[in-house]
Amino acid sequence: TIVARKLCKSFGHHRVLKDIDLTVAAGEISCIIGPSGSGKSTLLRCINGLETIDRGVLRVNGEDFGHVEHENAYHAVTPQRLAHQRTRIGMVFQQFNLFPNMTAEANVMSGPVLVKKVARKAAREQAAELLARVGLAGCGHKFPAQLSGGQQQRVAIARALAMDPSIMLFDEPTSALDPERVGEVLAVMRDLADLGMTMLVVTHEMGFAREVAKDILFMDDGVAVERGDAREVLANPAEPRTREFLERVL
Ligand code: ATP
Ligand code: MG
Repeated sequence: TIVARKLCKSFGHHRVLKDIDLTVAAGEISCIIGPSGSGKSTLLRCINGLETIDRGVLRVNGEDFGHVEHENAYHAVTPQRLAHQRTRIGMVFQQFNLFPNMTAEANVMSGPVLVKKVARKAAREQAAELLARVGLAGCGHKFPAQLSGGQQQRVAIARALAMDPSIMLFDEPTSALDPERVGEVLAVMRDLADLGMTMLVVTHEMGFAREVAKDILFMDDGVAVERGDAREVLANPAEPRTREFLERVL
């Protein structure tokens, strides 16, 4: 579960997130759409604990990621709790971010072995299962450079799943892919959704959003302009700014 209430984040004087409200219940899929620079990645980074928030409430899996009770008083979770929480949140990036000098299998094993201290044999078996699940059985020995973009992204998803996350965050997971490779990654994400994973997905794939997401959040210039049922928002946006954006991308 992700709950944000009046979440604010600035870089210097630049207010990047302005009073963002967002709820993603367990097992739900939400998509975030919006123009470049609207704060989508920053919001995901806050939820993943990669950025601290300045004001507001951010609760992830029932734990406060920091909110203000008094002016200038920032109450963050302890670093230990944050580190633990972060192991329960998987993140997949536009640029895959695989370790280039490690095989696909070693990439998938890295989190369990290094962070969770899982025995290598068990981690290797789990990696094989996860690679099979994302359609890459038998590819464990390959290095990222020997895989297509779509295959690398599926390894990245397997690597995130290896930590047994309760939430998966995706930041434009198909934006760096050749068009003919987009479908295979979306298919893996659909499977995850069907299995009940809680997912928050920044995407330009409106077809995916329409078919898979429950809610859509449209962000513009750090503001949550419109949020609601995915099909409803896409078919019938209430806000002019949402309408304008959708006309440009659809
Ligand atoms: P895109 O669609 O291009 O990925 P986005 O919606 O993900 O855009 P963000 O990356 O969240 O947007 O950036 C929002 C704003 O915050 C931008 O103006 C960006 O320049 C600024 N920004 C992001 N990270 C930092 C940072 N670490 N320091 C300063 N400014 C930042
Ligand atoms: Mg971004």
